[in-house]
Amino acid sequence: MAAYKCFKCGKAITTNNLEKRFVCVHCGSKIFFKPRKHIAKVKAE
Ligand SMILES: [Zn+2]
Repeated sequence: MAAYKCFKCGKAITTNNLEKRFVCVHCGSKIFFKPRKHIAKVKAE
């Protein structure tokens, strides 16, 4: 599952919300960007 952010309203959208229509469920924008946020992955060494 990937998470995007709406370019207009800045709300987080997941691919679950975007199933078929790649449109923001909050404002209807079609512009998204993928926030550069590293998912916390703990490396056990
Ligand atoms: Zn939006």
